[in-house]
Order: sequence, then C-alpha cells, then structure tokens
Amino acid sequence: MFQFKPVDEAVLEALIGIVGAENVSTAVSERQLRSQDMSRFPPSLSEVVVWPETGEQTAAVLRVANDHAVPVTAWGIGSSLEGHPIPLHGGISLSMEKMTAITAVHADDFQVTVQPGIGYKDLNAHLAQYGLFFPPDPGANATIGGMLANNAAGIRTVKYGASKDNVLAMKVALADGRLIRVGSRSIKQAAGYDLLHLFVGSEGTLGIITEAVLKLTPVPNLMSAVVATFPSVETAVEAVVAVRGSGLDVAALEFLGGGTAALLTREGGVDFGNKPTLLMEIHAAHEQSVTLDMGMIEEICEELGAITVHAASDADERRELWRIRHDMFEIARRAYADSMWQLMDVAVPISAYPEMAVHVTTTLAQYNLDSLLVGHAGDGNLHVIIPFKDEAVRADVEKVNKAIVQKAIALGGTSTGEHGVGIGKAPYLRMEHGAGLDIMYAIKQTLDPKGILNPGKIFVEQAR
Ligand SMILES: Cc1cc2nc3c(=O)[nH]c(=O)nc-3n(C[C@H](O)[C@H](O)[C@H](O)COP(=O)(O)OP(=O)(O)OC[C@H]3O[C@@H](n4cnc5c(N)ncnc54)[C@H](O)[C@@H]3O)c2cc1C
Repeated sequence: MFQFKPVDEAVLEALIGIVGAENVSTAVSERQLRSQDMSRFPPSLSEVVVWPETGEQTAAVLRVANDHAVPVTAWGIGSSLEGHPIPLHGGISLSMEKMTAITAVHADDFQVTVQPGIGYKDLNAHLAQYGLFFPPDPGANATIGGMLANNAAGIRTVKYGASKDNVLAMKVALADGRLIRVGSRSIKQAAGYDLLHLFVGSEGTLGIITEAVLKLTPVPNLMSAVVATFPSVETAVEAVVAVRGSGLDVAALEFLGGGTAALLTREGGVDFGNKPTLLMEIHAAHEQSVTLDMGMIEEICEELGAITVHAASDADERRELWRIRHDMFEIARRAYADSMWQLMDVAVPISAYPEMAVHVTTTLAQYNLDSLLVGHAGDGNLHVIIPFKDEAVRADVEKVNKAIVQKAIALGGTSTGEHGVGIGKAPYLRMEHGAGLDIMYAIKQTLDPKGILNPGKIFVEQAR
C-alpha cells in the first residue's frame, strides 16, 4: 500500500509557482465539481484542483506531486462510467479543461494536433470546414484526453475503430516530471516498442497525455440508416452476425432489446415499437453503393424473420434516429430517476454474440431483474443497464454482473469493451488476464514507483 501525503502549504506554493494562482483552487465547490463521474460510485474530494495550460506545466506539476508523494488524478469532463476520474485518495485533481487548443490541422495528411482537454464534438465542429472528422463517438462531449485514456469507442467503431485506432502520436508527462513523445505522424510505425498504445487505455495511471496527433477521416458523401425489428433477441442478434458475415461495411450496427426500444418509443419520440431492434447505418461515396448495401441489409433481415424493415427516408430522420440512440442513457436515467442502477459493458467475438445475448437474458430472468439491453452489436459489444430500488437487490445485481463478465471471458471476450476498468471492473482483471496483470503492474511500478497517478484504479489486489 502506498503512503501518500496531504497537499500542504509547500505543495500549494509550488503549484502556484508553476501555473499561477488563478489556476489553483482549494474551493470546495471546485473540488466537488470534480469529485464524481457518471458512474454509480460515490464522490471523493481532491484537496486541490489544478488547471495546467501546457505540457511543460503539466510535467512540472507531476514532478512536485511525485517529490511530495501527493496523488494526481486527471480530469477530462468526468463522463466515465466506472469511476475512473474520482480522486479516491484526495491529492490533486488535474483538470485538462484549459488545454483545449487545436494546435495544427494537417488537412493534406488527414491529421490534427490537439491539446487533450478539447471535446471531440467541438473538435469535429471545427474540422467540418475541412470535410474531415475524428470518428470515435462515445456520446457525451468527452475530451480527447479522456477518450484516449479510456480507449473510448462508440457507435461507429465497427467501421472506423476505437480511439486507439485513430491516434498516431502523443506527448505524455510522466510521474517524475519527464515529458516524452510517443508514436509519430507516419501511418506506418515500426521503431521499437509501441509506447503509444501502452498509454492509450491506461486511464491516467501511467502518465498524463498533454498533446495528441489524431488520425482523421473524410466525412462520407452519403449516409443512410435502416431500422429492423425482430420477434426475439435470438433472431435479432443472428441478423447481426449475418450482416457482418455478408462482408457489408456497415458504419453502425446497434442492438436494442425490446424493453429499450419500448422506452425510446415512449420517452424519445421515435417509433421503435417494443421488439428487439437493429439500427444500422451505411456510409458510401456513390448513390449506387448505398442502394445496393441497403438492399442487401433488408434482404438479410427479412430472411432472418424481421417483423419490419424500415429505411430512413431522409437525412433528418437518420439524424433523429441517432440522436435518440445517443440520448438513450440519459433517457434511461430520467425514466429511472428514483432508482439505483448498474451499467455493464462486455464484448465478445462477433460469432459468440448470440450466445452472449441469450446468456444475459436467461441470467436476468433467473434473478427476476428489470433491465435494458443495448449494444454496439457490430463489434460484439453489449451493455446491460439494471435499475433497482431496493438496496437488498444489490447483491443479486453484483452476481449477475459477475456471471456476465465470466461468460464474456469464457467466450474469448473481455470484461469491458469500451468503458474501461476504473473502479468497477478492477476485480475482474485477474480473471481476464491471469499473470498478464502482474506484467501490467510491473510496468506501473516502473513508470510510477510511488503510485501517485490515479491510485485505486485498475489494480485492486496490489493496493491492499
Ligand atoms: C451518456 C454516456 C454515453 C457514453 N457512451 C460511451 C460509448 O458509447 N463508448 C465509450 O467508449 N464510452 C462511453 N461513455 C463513457 C465516457 O464518455 C468515455 O469513457 C470518455 O472517454 C470519458 O472522457 P472524459 O473526457 O469524460 O474523461 P474523464 O471521465 O474525465 O476521465 C477518464 C479517465 O481518463 C483520465 N484522463 C483524463 N484526461 C487525461 C489525460 N489528458 N491524460 C491521461 N489521463 C487522462 C482520467 O483520470 C480518468 O481516469 C459514455 C458516457 C456517458 C455519460
């Protein structure tokens, strides 16, 4: 167990010396604002919030923290779902909110260099003038730093990849105050160990990302969406495998359980009915390709027993479908405002998706729990939201969570497809990685021997 020290006057003075008094605050309101993410985990207060404006300042803050054994937890906008940015051990909440610059747009290379605090939606709004976009889309206006740190993905990952697939280089401040560069602006990179991807997904436990070169994609000329409803979860998820197996390059392939479709129909103003539903999108450069691809999707869905197959009539309807899908989590939170809830996130190889989905529905039925199923089905990712009112039910919810994670791992999948480890998935990493977890911890010890970076996340056994 690491021994941390409190933020004392000497530390505060040093921090002010680096970033200026206007960028250091011990106000309770500022600390409270950064004490809790969007997960079920309770808040925990830092002792001070610090807003660096450059990579050099970030590195200098880390050097001071390391010298004084003060914990540092980076903060993007706190949209994580597993407790990642909660400063469990107090110390410094290192907010990236003032590092929002778009440093350079390399339009001819389809690249952009940014500071980590910019929201991906703000970035894409700026890039629209170049006809380019950064594809990963977790929904909330997550920061680029938070997305890279969590390896966030989203609805269009099935075509464009996750955050890890859309980054080329980063600057990273290390615990001891060194500022290093990892990766390069070349698409091909073979020069030694892949440190870039060591830091991607490390959740602020190995270093703080202070700059990133992102890979961009041309905005597609044409987009079209299809909604198909099915009599059962089994038929819907079989259609997922069939669509993927057909070789169609879908840009989104989302699954909604019957209860989720009914909720969105009731509260979202879109008619999804109340049956298991697939929501799909095609991107293409030519009208003919869209027509052919849409025709194939309709054919596959009908062959697999779809009850209805509906193609969005125009861009407005398509946008509205995706708006509702993006708002799903918020709609669910409003609908179950008086409930506690658990949100699960597992992913399996696509061929195992039907077995995973059936396992989830039978396990939920066994415990008689209310639930909402939703998934980025095209890449084998499934989410289960379990709302519950009675504290006594929590033990059952945990049992279901464990059973679902165990099944995903047994099927060759993972305990988390995109939300990351944080606090919630930490207990399952030994099950998933075995001795590999010890190698991860050895890397952590090498880069952060005093354990100051985001303590209490990813590693639970080692913290005891
Ligand atoms: C409604 C809703 C829908 C969502 N849908 C999806 C989805 O579809 N797919 C998906 O993947 N996620 C989804 N998420 C989860 C969340 O949006 C992502 O995990 C996102 O990447 C978090 O970004 P953030 O800026 O909020 O980071 P934060 O939550 O503030 O921080 C995330 C982690 O990164 C660390 N961190 C932050 N900045 C840096 C930095 N510069 N350097 C190093 N570490 C840093 C923090 O310490 C923390 O550990 C959703 C969340 C919500 C609320």
